[in-house]
Amino acid sequence: MQSLTEIQKKLNGINPSTKILAVSKFQPAEKIRGLYQQGQRLFGENYVQEALEKQRALSDLQIQWHDIGRLQKNKVKLVLGHFSLIHSVDALELAQAIDQKAKQQNIQQAILLQLNLANEQSKGGFSEENLLDSTALLDTMAGLKNIEIHGLMTMPPLAEDPKQSRPYFQRLRKLKDQLQKRWPTLTELSMGTSSDYLVAAEEGATMVRLGTMLFGERPHQ
Ligand SMILES: *Cc1c(COP(=O)(O)O)cnc(C)c1O
Repeated sequence: MQSLTEIQKKLNGINPSTKILAVSKFQPAEKIRGLYQQGQRLFGENYVQEALEKQRALSDLQIQWHDIGRLQKNKVKLVLGHFSLIHSVDALELAQAIDQKAKQQNIQQAILLQLNLANEQSKGGFSEENLLDSTALLDTMAGLKNIEIHGLMTMPPLAEDPKQSRPYFQRLRKLKDQLQKRWPTLTELSMGTSSDYLVAAEEGATMVRLGTMLFGERPHQ
């Protein structure tokens, strides 16, 4: 565990454009308030119900909430309008469901596309080939007028050594650069957690998602 200031200082030395997203799943609202008082504004939650409860408890604060959890289509309705960014859009059908509900509510929803770079069974997400080779997929997404794709997100395979994450971060960065030629607004790279955020910052992360590093161990899983 490290203080927000220490982490910011380290990141500034590596990549001053890397923002910290404080991942507060399972952490009580009062701990979020504590970090907010130290200047933290971006918070990420995984579970819709839990997130909405905390949003109510902390509605006096100017928090920018992000949704980073696996999102089921039947939960889209609950999420829309409550998060400034959804990091975990892992399939075309989900993007379409978000677009459809956003249209009904007459809002624009900012999202990131989640990549499953190691093709892990346990994880959702697009593959690189999905996004690069299939212009049909790109065209369909570009036609979804109520979502705005702001960038890419990934969770590399669990590893002992943070250096093992580097090739995945490099691939995500390359993919983003390629897609940006077509979608100039695709600027964000959400990659890196407590164990490998410094490597992620070196490889161009614009957002690192830090849970235990900021809050300590989570109370339960
Ligand atoms: C929980 C979680 C994190 C934070 O992980 P830490 O190891 O506690 O920093 C980051 N990203 C996602 C998608 C998560 O679910």
